[in-house]
Amino acid sequence: MNNELNFNFEDELHEECGVFGIYDFDGGDVASTIYYGLLALQHRGQESCGIAVSDTCGFKVKVSAHKGMGLCNEVFTPEILEGLRGDIGVGHVRYSTAGSSTRENAQPLVLNYLKGTLAMAHNGNLVNAPELRRELEYNGAIFQTTIDSEVIAYHIARERVKAATVEAAVANAMKKLKGAYSLVIMSPRKMIGARDPYGFKPLCIGKRDNSYILVSESCALDTLGAEFVRDVCPGEVVTITKEGITSDTSLCLVDKSKEARCIFEYIYFARPDSVFDGVSVYHSRMCAGRALAMDSPVEADIVVGVPESGNAAALGYSLQSGIPYGTAFVKNSYVGRTFIKPKQSNRESAVRIKLNVLKEAVMGKRVIMIDDSIVRGTTSALIVNMLRESGAKEVHVRISSPPFLHPCYFGTDIPNEEQLIAHNRTIDEIRDLLGADSLSYLNTDRLNEMAEGLPICTACFSGDYPMEPPKEDIRGEYTE
Ligand code: SF4
Repeated sequence: MNNELNFNFEDELHEECGVFGIYDFDGGDVASTIYYGLLALQHRGQESCGIAVSDTCGFKVKVSAHKGMGLCNEVFTPEILEGLRGDIGVGHVRYSTAGSSTRENAQPLVLNYLKGTLAMAHNGNLVNAPELRRELEYNGAIFQTTIDSEVIAYHIARERVKAATVEAAVANAMKKLKGAYSLVIMSPRKMIGARDPYGFKPLCIGKRDNSYILVSESCALDTLGAEFVRDVCPGEVVTITKEGITSDTSLCLVDKSKEARCIFEYIYFARPDSVFDGVSVYHSRMCAGRALAMDSPVEADIVVGVPESGNAAALGYSLQSGIPYGTAFVKNSYVGRTFIKPKQSNRESAVRIKLNVLKEAVMGKRVIMIDDSIVRGTTSALIVNMLRESGAKEVHVRISSPPFLHPCYFGTDIPNEEQLIAHNRTIDEIRDLLGADSLSYLNTDRLNEMAEGLPICTACFSGDYPMEPPKEDIRGEYTE
């Protein structure tokens, strides 16, 4: 077993996407609202973004779209938003886990077909995308992108030719899809939201004045001054028209205990001010911190969180243990994910560029450092070292998730098993590699408490996949 950590700049996990849709029944333009909604979802994807809008009142329903590589405020200008006229629209922020990071793969996808135009935004990964794609290609389909979202859009368009309504076409297409997907679809006069029957990825409904909104995370509703209406249930298709909201629950699992919400949304991906399926992300992180304090206590002078997702867990640990909570790190929020990474030969470190230690806070102290996860371990080792260099007397690492041991096929880019620090290593070996005085992870059985009993997916920790994993590795590009 390798006893050294190879430095890797990408020692973080990434979410695949965030989706947004809005329909203003009063006919107002929606592009700028989509833009602000996407800004609130930016943490879910920073590689590319896009907006597609349409005018439901016009005679000839035309879709205007703009998308590009980069953050929302890099891709959109006030002039571009001004040019996107329409009272219904969808938006998307993307990080690629299937399909390469190119402008063609940016979403929303806009599809012109026999029955008109569809625009679609997708969050998640299909496990059967290669089969579905091949089936379409044998029938003459030519793909413009390498993403599985286009496979979904094609299947919906194909079903639409036979189905009476677009929502029926979505439900029929869903019968073929396996894996994780939360979808927002704009047809000429309808906004449709759909969530896979396992409920891997979140999706909720909001309302502001006479507009209805579909969005990945409820934090975006707060940003927009909209009210939360309800979550879209796992397996549900909701259709929003001027006549109201209709719901098709025929694809919901009968046995709800088989639902499999991604627990990593609660641990790391989501913003702490979001609430999914009735469970507050902030509360679940606090709960993980409390559990760590109960299961893995240690004497110390201060508890600190690695920002952002470690902070709430650190507060939970502090409240449970009575050890004071403190701030040890200052984060540079302006770096972004696409910053110019220093060369290995440079003295600058990617971690130091993003994070600095408040020396006064840790000098001469026994520090408990709470982080959400350890992937390859290189970042954690650097942070432990930074605390020591700043005068920390002891560094005790507590992780608010269990060790990563298995790949994810549902939209999280967990690296191959050999690259995971916990693969084939004991906790003591990992602690040595990190240079920490002690190390503990969250017990796997505590995950259910974090989700307040909601059925969850824990496959990357337990290897217990909610559905059969794909036979070929679907993570990456479809090159053939
Ligand atoms: S395997 Fe892990 S990251 Fe993937 S959906 Fe399940 S809990 Fe989430």
